[in-house]
Amino acid sequence: MERKVRVRFAPSPTGPLHIGGVRTALYNYLFAHQHGGDMILRIEDTDSRRFVPGAEEYINEALAWLGIKIDEGVKEGGPFGPYKQSQRRDIYREYTDKLLKAGKAYIAFDTPEELEAARAATPNFQYDASTRLGMRNSLSLDKAEVDRLISEGTPYVVRFKIEPGRDVEVNDLIRGKVTINSSVLDDKVLYKSADDLPTYHLANIVDDHLMEVSHVIRGEEWLPSAPLHVLLYEAFGWADTMPSFVHLPLLLKPDGKGKLSKRDGDRLGFPVFPLEWHDPKSGETSSGYREAGYLPEAVINFLALLGWNPGDDSEIMSMDELCHKFSLDHCSKAGAKFDFEKGKWFNHKYLQETPDAQLAEMFKPVLEQNGVNPADYTDEYITRVVSLVKGRINFVSDLWDQAKFFFKAPDTYEEKSVKKRWSDETPRIMAELIEVLKSLTDFSSAAAEKTVLDWIVEKGYHMGNVMNAFRLTVVGECKGPHMFDITELIGREETIRRIQAGIDNIKKPC
Ligand code: GLU
Repeated sequence: MERKVRVRFAPSPTGPLHIGGVRTALYNYLFAHQHGGDMILRIEDTDSRRFVPGAEEYINEALAWLGIKIDEGVKEGGPFGPYKQSQRRDIYREYTDKLLKAGKAYIAFDTPEELEAARAATPNFQYDASTRLGMRNSLSLDKAEVDRLISEGTPYVVRFKIEPGRDVEVNDLIRGKVTINSSVLDDKVLYKSADDLPTYHLANIVDDHLMEVSHVIRGEEWLPSAPLHVLLYEAFGWADTMPSFVHLPLLLKPDGKGKLSKRDGDRLGFPVFPLEWHDPKSGETSSGYREAGYLPEAVINFLALLGWNPGDDSEIMSMDELCHKFSLDHCSKAGAKFDFEKGKWFNHKYLQETPDAQLAEMFKPVLEQNGVNPADYTDEYITRVVSLVKGRINFVSDLWDQAKFFFKAPDTYEEKSVKKRWSDETPRIMAELIEVLKSLTDFSSAAAEKTVLDWIVEKGYHMGNVMNAFRLTVVGECKGPHMFDITELIGREETIRRIQAGIDNIKKPC
């Protein structure tokens, strides 16, 4: 029988979720949805020293913002809970005991100092079949001694007893068969008595098995752990239900080689986290895609294409389309360059698709930040402003720079344009323009345009100079949407007031 697709995203709450982690969550989600499967969110918090307060909440908030829905998890509940590893201690103790009883694991008492001494004495020391009998553990000590140490409360760890000389195969659905010899693996620590918690490897395998995970989709950095995981499945007798492995390609620096890091983001000016993060220890704030003005749909679309392609040249794809088209066959082995300029391009595209009324709502907080009370304007006004300038923006915050003159008369005039377009004649011509505008019965864009242009031609004035001087008075610089769309919106009175202010205030630099 075909196995039900069940995937899990299993972050450790050690800080903000990195954008690479978001991509992993997304690929899990797409794969699950495509197969009518389940998506689990498991919190892997067994390393108490690395626990960071707020990180779990951050993960939930980020996934919710991005529209990555979880079927089973700490918040959602589900039949395989608890979904937080620190609440599953009894389970891990039980499975650790199973391995001990079966002779597949052993107890080791070596202190950090003893391990340090062994490393210093033997170059490339590895705790394994060739060295374990020289160390202090339940294989080298007699039973009475082991019992005594345990009853005295001596801290110990449980190590996995790896049999040397075996070829271990990992079947990765992107990479194919990866074989490594078990002799290069060390006897990994599976459990620590000091905090009564398992290590990542044991907890991860036990949970994947108990939660009936069918596919382990995770970042390439976990590939080196996979042979050990295969051996653990075998040791437990679960080889038949071992999940398929999928190790996703790394996200690479936008320039040059190597893994994308937070420093690249700081250096080149883009966020590497989905949401803004306030580090509780250092007090440092890291920027997030949400706060930088990205739409979640744009982030999703951008990330989906970092390591996967649809097999044709489609670029703009909704979450539904992505779910439909996604396939592991089109995931690449090679790392994906993190082209953040492309990320901006996606945001631009998605903003163009966003209804103007919605953009207007998103613009309101930006207006407020810039000292404009949105309540002083009708929704229709703000919506029309947005429709005129949105073609030029990558982010909602860019709207202010493109549209501020719809809300505030200019108080300075761009010097370069004044030099070029404002002559001794101009104030007189602008005064005439005021009269032309006053005479209009219809102040709509088309009507005003026709009358003003006819007047310029009739008078034999220089079209470019007059129109640019006009624009300078209204906008403050020689940019912006169609001039008469602007005047129609701000209205006759305001237009005339601005031209007059220009006549009074623009001084040609000497
Ligand atoms: N807890 C690991 C992490 O932080 C999970 C790795 C895995 O998916 O197996 O990414």
